[in-house]
Amino acid sequence: MHEYQAPLTDMKFVLRELVDLELLAQLPGFGDMTLDVADAVLDEAAKFAGGVLSPLNRSGDLEGVRWQEGEVLTAAGWKQAYTRFAADGWGALSCPADFGGQNLPRALSALVEEMWNGANMAFALCPMLTRGAIDAIELRGTEAQRDTYLPKMVSGEWTGTMNLTEPQAGSDLSAVRTRAVPDGDGRYRLTGQKIFITYGEHDLTGNIIHMVLARVAGAPEGVKGTSLFLVPKFLVNADGSLRERNDVHCVSIEHKLGIHASPTCVLSYGQNGGAIAELVGEENRGLEYMFIMMNAARYSVGLEGIGLSERAYQTALAYARERIQSTEAGVRGGPRVPIVRHPDVRRMLLLMKSQTEAMRALSVVVAVSLDAARLHPRAEERERHQAVADLMIPVIKGWCTENSVDIASLGVQVHGGVGFVEETGAAQFLRDARITPIYEGTTGIQANDLIGRKLARDGGRAAQLVITQMRALAGDLAAAPKLTEAAAAFSAAIDGSRGDGVRFGGNDQWSAGRSFERSRGNAASTAGWPFRRFRGNAGASASQALQRSRGNAVHWSVITTFPRKRVPRQGSFMSSNSGLP
Ligand SMILES: Cc1cc2nc3c(=O)[nH]c(=O)nc-3n(C[C@H](O)[C@H](O)[C@H](O)COP(=O)(O)OP(=O)(O)OC[C@H]3O[C@@H](n4cnc5c(N)ncnc54)[C@H](O)[C@@H]3O)c2cc1C
Repeated sequence: MHEYQAPLTDMKFVLRELVDLELLAQLPGFGDMTLDVADAVLDEAAKFAGGVLSPLNRSGDLEGVRWQEGEVLTAAGWKQAYTRFAADGWGALSCPADFGGQNLPRALSALVEEMWNGANMAFALCPMLTRGAIDAIELRGTEAQRDTYLPKMVSGEWTGTMNLTEPQAGSDLSAVRTRAVPDGDGRYRLTGQKIFITYGEHDLTGNIIHMVLARVAGAPEGVKGTSLFLVPKFLVNADGSLRERNDVHCVSIEHKLGIHASPTCVLSYGQNGGAIAELVGEENRGLEYMFIMMNAARYSVGLEGIGLSERAYQTALAYARERIQSTEAGVRGGPRVPIVRHPDVRRMLLLMKSQTEAMRALSVVVAVSLDAARLHPRAEERERHQAVADLMIPVIKGWCTENSVDIASLGVQVHGGVGFVEETGAAQFLRDARITPIYEGTTGIQANDLIGRKLARDGGRAAQLVITQMRALAGDLAAAPKLTEAAAAFSAAIDGSRGDGVRFGGNDQWSAGRSFERSRGNAASTAGWPFRRFRGNAGASASQALQRSRGNAVHWSVITTFPRKRVPRQGSFMSSNSGLP
């Protein structure tokens, strides 16, 4: 079994060449963030990912989780790994310093999170959801809620969950029925059932803080009547000490295609009179607040896709170097060679790697916008970065997760027959990847969000800004030796995307049913956008900047392969629309 090794060279390349480090350094609290510090964090995270989390990935998949009288027992080694993870401060990396976090840029913690996902996605889900709950409490909770819950959640002593889904309310959260009744004491009593709740019950920590979407008795119908509640598994005193068990119970867990070691729970609220709940923010603004968590989680699910893709690539490459089969093409009577020498195998590996690198680049550059949207001293800059991040989050979620399924499938293909049996790990990556385009809003929902809200909302302005930057880069690429073919493919793809922006600017009619194909095509062209930094690097031209990466031969192939082989798929996505009902 090939263990995960964090792709440190590629990650450091993204930080050095594509991230706007000057912008990051201007943001309050990030002044001390040097490349040396970033390298040290990545190096240490790589050791934890490869040495602690990766070895549990296969055993966790085989053992899964067990439900026992309402308790959920995680796989062997899980609890020890989580305890170390929390003690080493990994969950607190980009959390606010006021509550014990390390306040490192998201642009750095995104790379670290990719490592956790590459090493062991079923494990990484737990801190990921905790992080979303922390964001919601930090931004919308009262001072008392922040002081009571955040220090223990940031330290990892307690975990957090996101409770939206009910049997009749999946993509359509306006159908949520869980009921909240004020108890006259400033709190509420919750009754109802939530399904598919990730880490809704487990044995890793002493308490679990559920963030629950529910409807206050008498609230309006639809999304405008949903409110956000905080429901601890064990009630908590103001000093953080634990009281009695709350009325929320795990009645069963799901048996799934993948992520076997991540408990997916059915939670029942109010079997004994109602779970005690605290309102977060104001009544009837629950979905708006939930979107804080969902946006953070959607971005993070995109990182799951990237981590899994990297892992699938590494495993396929290792196998392709070992597996001996056939003589080299065109060499008669020569020795049998490792399959990595066959052009078709190289094509598959390069496709896997080039897409993974493009996805990573996009995710980290968007993370800079997430940092700037939160911290930039100037309001108009915060707004501009927020618009870019809002536009890109459905792209990262939809595109990186759909790609991860394709990439994990290519990984199986590189292995041939043994890819289809479980021992190599290739099959597990494909099974695990399959959930990523489904939860946190299916790809169809991401497409609706991108096309229906994010592009239309500002008349296409944020999209036009990105397109203008891509066009400038395409011009530079066209002038760079050996990149003209890639530049032409990139330019053609931008032409397609620009058409969409113009149409949205003109408020043209749009068919929602076409939005998935359209958004997937646009995403492929958008992936060139992070490389715009090549233009601004101390006056260096694109060719000079790319020249630097030629020291790494794989990197050079990757940078040229993506626009030539993958971006042109945009054309086929567009034309396939005609076949849709
Ligand atoms: C392993 C796992 C973990 C999960 N973890 C959590 C969790 O922690 N917390 C939580 O609250 N939920 C969680 N979920 C639930 C998950 O978010 C939902 O399954 C997901 O949002 C889809 O809802 P659904 O399953 O009801 O599908 P449906 O909404 O029934 O969708 C079925 C199909 O119809 C399409 N569709 C539906 N509406 C539209 C539309 N308007 N436009 C276009 N297409 C549409 C969808 O794209 C999909 O293809 C989890 C689910 C799983 C399987």
